[in-house]
Amino acid sequence: MTVATTPDRSARKHVPERMCVACGRKQEKRTLLRVVRTPQGALELDEKGKKPGRGAYLCGDHTCWESALQRKRLEHALRMTLTAQDKQLIKAQASRLAAAPDSGS
Ligand SMILES: [Zn+2]
Repeated sequence: MTVATTPDRSARKHVPERMCVACGRKQEKRTLLRVVRTPQGALELDEKGKKPGRGAYLCGDHTCWESALQRKRLEHALRMTLTAQDKQLIKAQASRLAAAPDSGS
């Protein structure tokens, strides 16, 4: 008998979930990407989820990033007006995600 330490999702106590601001789907926090409005009022990608500031979550799906931008979902969630630079950041992330090979799903 092998001692396999297969993590069983259902056995875990609590999985933190967050909602994507673009599509509204709830997902495990770790599968989402966090965007923060820093105390300085700039938009930043927060890959570790540790940056201070008001945060919003988006799926790892580029379409969510695009629609978040187009529908002003991020502006709404973060209560800020995105500058051209901020928008560029989101667009860059969207194209990164679009280009990334989707190993899952
Ligand atoms: Zn989404």
